[in-house]
Amino acid sequence: MKAAPFAYVRPSSLADAIAELAQTGGGGKVIAGGQSLAPVLAMRLARPDTLVDINSVEELGELARADGHLNIGATVRQRRVERSPLSQAVPLLRLALPWVGHRELRSRGTVCGSLAHADPAAELPAVACCLDAELTLTGPKGPRQVQAREFFGGAMTTALGPDEILTSVRMPVADAGEGFGFAEIARRHGDFALAGVAVRVQLHAQGSKATMTAFGVSDRPVTRDVSAQLAAAVTCAGAAPADRIKEQISAVVDEMTDTDGDVHASRDYRRRLLGILAGRELSKAYEHARRGSDEVGT
Ligand SMILES: Cc1cc2nc3c(=O)[nH]c(=O)nc-3n(C[C@H](O)[C@H](O)[C@H](O)COP(=O)(O)OP(=O)(O)OC[C@H]3O[C@@H](n4cnc5c(N)ncnc54)[C@H](O)[C@@H]3O)c2cc1C
Repeated sequence: MKAAPFAYVRPSSLADAIAELAQTGGGGKVIAGGQSLAPVLAMRLARPDTLVDINSVEELGELARADGHLNIGATVRQRRVERSPLSQAVPLLRLALPWVGHRELRSRGTVCGSLAHADPAAELPAVACCLDAELTLTGPKGPRQVQAREFFGGAMTTALGPDEILTSVRMPVADAGEGFGFAEIARRHGDFALAGVAVRVQLHAQGSKATMTAFGVSDRPVTRDVSAQLAAAVTCAGAAPADRIKEQISAVVDEMTDTDGDVHASRDYRRRLLGILAGRELSKAYEHARRGSDEVGT
């Protein structure tokens, strides 16, 4: 099948891109890497009357570290982030990126495009939620900030208005008392995950915190504070073995997994996968945080 006819515009400034999108009255769509949108158009699952290509908007190509954060603009490719020394400061992102499809797709696909697409089994929305990243949405009324955990409203549904562009995402840089973990199970490498988890453990003098975000098990990334469960799993020797954590978080894992399941995996199977992955990744992240090491998540 071929895409339904559409008009195509390629503005060179953000102001023009916003004006072009507004002019379509809700019938237009942004195209960034096109890795998700092109198949959607080809299958006629969407029939936008205009595509607003943002790839010539120079100001959206920023990848920079500032004020304790990594700022990633709307046209920054996933592969550029993966290869950039700047992203070493955000270990969870580095751990997750190799799991996003295949290298060839990441050479075109953008970080912001993956967030805007909001596939419930995608890796980067989970990373953004686990880190509580801040997204900037820009429309005719100017920019507004939305936290990642408020951004995802359901499968392929976000807080973006029809006249708004996700112009950047800001992710916090890790410090020495933090450890991270990321894992997923997919049928083949490069497929969307049946279940996956991103975790962050923060051990600071002021208090400790453990956060886990699950994906592939609900209609959006699901984030929970599991600090109490992790603390309860710590042994007298100060370790946090994966099986003890798995036991402690089992009720949370049950509650997080609310998918109906599909032909690839039932709800129960995904729940079991999530429990095992989360126990293992939280245990590793805790160890890394404890050591204050920067070899996080390896
Ligand atoms: C074979 C295959 C396997 C894949 N496997 C995975 C996988 O395992 N994990 C995974 O996460 N992804 C996977 N993907 C998707 C891929 O990673 C895409 O790159 C990503 O989901 C979308 O990024 P994009 O820049 O290509 O966005 P596009 O395809 O250009 O856009 C996707 C959607 O987001 C909107 N959009 C894009 N950018 C913006 C913006 N800045 N502001 C507002 N709206 C915007 C578009 O209008 C469209 O609705 C796969 C794709 C393919 C074809």
